[in-house]
Amino acid sequence: MNNKDLQERKNKVFARGQGNAYPVYVKEAKNSEIWDVEGNRFIDFGTGIAVCNTGHSHPKIIEAVKNQIEKFSHTCVMVNPYEVAVELAEKLTKLAPGETEKKAIFVTTGAEAVENCVKIARAHTGRRGVIAFNGGFHGRTNLTMALTGKTMPYKKGFGPFPAEIYHLPYPTEFNNTSVKDTLVALKNLFKADILPEDVAAIIIEPIQGEGGFYQTPVELLKELRAICDEHGIILILDEIQTGFARTGKMFCTEYSGIEPDLMTMAKGIAGGYPLSGVVGKAEIMDTPIPGGLGGTYGGSPVACAAGLAVLDVIEEENLIERANEVGAIFSKRLNDLKAKFPDLITDVRNKGAMIALELMKDGDIYNPNVELTKAITANAVEHGLVLLSCGFNSNVIRFLPALTISDETLNEGLDKFDELFTSL
Ligand code: PLP
Repeated sequence: MNNKDLQERKNKVFARGQGNAYPVYVKEAKNSEIWDVEGNRFIDFGTGIAVCNTGHSHPKIIEAVKNQIEKFSHTCVMVNPYEVAVELAEKLTKLAPGETEKKAIFVTTGAEAVENCVKIARAHTGRRGVIAFNGGFHGRTNLTMALTGKTMPYKKGFGPFPAEIYHLPYPTEFNNTSVKDTLVALKNLFKADILPEDVAAIIIEPIQGEGGFYQTPVELLKELRAICDEHGIILILDEIQTGFARTGKMFCTEYSGIEPDLMTMAKGIAGGYPLSGVVGKAEIMDTPIPGGLGGTYGGSPVACAAGLAVLDVIEEENLIERANEVGAIFSKRLNDLKAKFPDLITDVRNKGAMIALELMKDGDIYNPNVELTKAITANAVEHGLVLLSCGFNSNVIRFLPALTISDETLNEGLDKFDELFTSL
């Protein structure tokens, strides 16, 4: 069996819309390493798009999943519920930021978690409008595509989208937009397009993930909290990419000190088993009537067992602290690279182990180097690395290492990245 043959087989039966970044077919993955069907080894700096924060095939998670499968795999939490789901909801409602009493629901994908937030917000407020941000990413279902603030490749050809979704400019120095500009745009939106009393929710990522790992300024989160309080708007924090120790806190929102009304969770929640959830203020969460929320597989007992094991691993292995250590090592090494290539590297930024390298042409921060970004990801596997890109302007290399990565593997991966970057 080899990668080329498998890619040919895949191309015959998979629609190209679900294409793959690398023609590397996985045989085995452990902690931060992946081996393909040809026996090649790769250091994984993508963790399946921020899912395996606890590393691939963590023995504790495997054990929890095996124990659960031997008992039962599915009854549907909406038919015959089970303790693992209740226990996970108990833990997550305690871990979510803020003091207000919380409740949870479980679904299966990130997009579903976002959809459910909007459903709950609309049911609670009786309003229709939702405000999101340029560059934000919230999923690939119809409503979440509409919330997503970038056309290519997520939205092109898939409209029409639901009405009453509005986008605001997202503040970063790289698009020359300040928090003040965003707040002025919001004021204008309230004058020209929708009255605040018709807005159900504002949704924002504490760090834009697909958008380019831009950190939402704390000042903006605080302002949004105040505006939502003033007008009875539900504030939704989308923590799908930032949650579960990734940013050096259990949830990135903690850096701001604000309490969201609703929060999404997915990806790192169960270390690779399909699970997502909404955790929010109990009074808001309880608005929809029984049967209005959930789905057949939402809160799968196998995924919930994995989710409980993930929380144990985060605590036992101090992964919150480790995310900060990993981020510091990356930051030092990438800044050394930036010093060597000041005309190509616009910025090195990280919050914990959510790390980005932004690339430009000719020392011009407004001239994104899409070609170099593509060349780096295209050549990564030749250098034994799995790397992802992102960014509103498609000019950011993102690093999402497992938080369980050893210093040795981490430095080996960074050496490989240096080699790769300097070879281009
Ligand atoms: N929201 C954010 C912030 C994400 O990063 C993603 C996925 O990348 C989603 C929503 C959608 O999650 P899923 O792909 O599981 O539907």
